Amino acid sequence: MKETAKIQTAVYAGRIKDRQTLLRSSSGGAFTALTNVFLKRGNAVVAAVYNYQTHRTEFHLILTEEERDAARGSKYMQSDPGRIFRDALSWLKANPDKCLLFTGLGCQAEGFRKFAELKRIRGRVYIVDLICFGSMSPGLWREYARSLEKRHHGKITYLSFRDKRNGWEKPSAYATINGHEVPVNDCLNVYYGRCALRPSCYVCPFTSTERKTDITIGDYWNIEKALPDFYDKDGVSLLLIHTRRGLRLLRQAGTELDCRRSDKSLCPQPNLSAPSKRPAQRDRFWKDYRRKKAQAVIKKYGSGDGGRLRRMIRKCIRFRPWEKIFCPPERRKDQ
Ligand SMILES: Cc1cc2nc3c(=O)[nH]c(=O)nc-3n(C[C@H](O)[C@H](O)[C@H](O)COP(=O)(O)OP(=O)(O)OC[C@H]3O[C@@H](n4cnc5c(N)ncnc54)[C@H](O)[C@@H]3O)c2cc1C
Repeated sequence: MKETAKIQTAVYAGRIKDRQTLLRSSSGGAFTALTNVFLKRGNAVVAAVYNYQTHRTEFHLILTEEERDAARGSKYMQSDPGRIFRDALSWLKANPDKCLLFTGLGCQAEGFRKFAELKRIRGRVYIVDLICFGSMSPGLWREYARSLEKRHHGKITYLSFRDKRNGWEKPSAYATINGHEVPVNDCLNVYYGRCALRPSCYVCPFTSTERKTDITIGDYWNIEKALPDFYDKDGVSLLLIHTRRGLRLLRQAGTELDCRRSDKSLCPQPNLSAPSKRPAQRDRFWKDYRRKKAQAVIKKYGSGDGGRLRRMIRKCIRFRPWEKIFCPPERRKDQ
């Protein structure tokens, strides 16, 4: 049986042993533990790194733990492959006895898998994809980031969408400008509101537990019920193992990653069964964006105030209090 052939998906919960790394990771630190197996043996890793100059997230070929640490954390805007296909192939050709671990979203991992098969390097390429809610428009984010820099008279020097100081389940999002933390929760709310997702995300075919990669990683939501004694307020990773070599890689990472066997029925989450739904107000959102620009539209749809006001108005319309005051009971509409 080929090492990359599909096996019955095995489900694990994982949590990196080092507390500092766990706190800096978005979920349970599976990415760091898996990539350490490669970097410690002189192999390469491909992962998405945020560029603070251009405000784009780009794929980098990574050879050191320091470079890998810069790839930690979930960035919710769509990442840019740039020259990564060419760079990865050149590196593998120049290092014929080495292998490479590609990490990325389902759609990106599928592209890289097909490329690796076409170039006959799949045997030397391990692929880990992420469970994904969807990617935010990179143009919208860039414009928003620049408007923050303008407003706060400085450059963004650090960005976190998943800060765990209030725990993994209540993450906060902020950008650091001039040494101060500037909240970007309104942007995060817009992301979770789904209006700013790429159109392809609403029909994403990579939303099941069955994949053609070696391992899929994500958040182990529901861990408190699935494996209560493995729950950790600082995060737990879900690992879906699809191939024999994926299983071997997990065992090798075991020196740094505490693992527990689980089951598919114990890790339900929306994006493992269907793509994120296209919201009814998506067209209105983009129409507003064309008139008002990023910061205004993110404030309107992400601050929560607009929604509260709208809900109050709707409630008021539904109960029609003016009728109760001005109309005799027999003429009231709701009777
Ligand atoms: C856009 C997006 C949506 C997600 N949606 C879900 C979800 O709905 N459910 C769920 O369980 N998990 C989701 N995840 C995955 C989860 O947030 C963690 O990224 C994952 O569990 C890995 O966490 P970690 O603790 O192992 O390591 P971390 O160090 O936090 O993860 C870093 C990894 O994320 C990758 N990455 C970060 N940003 C991007 C990006 N923009 N494009 C491509 N790769 C990126 C890096 O390359 C690296 O592989 C999403 C991640 C992203 C980026």
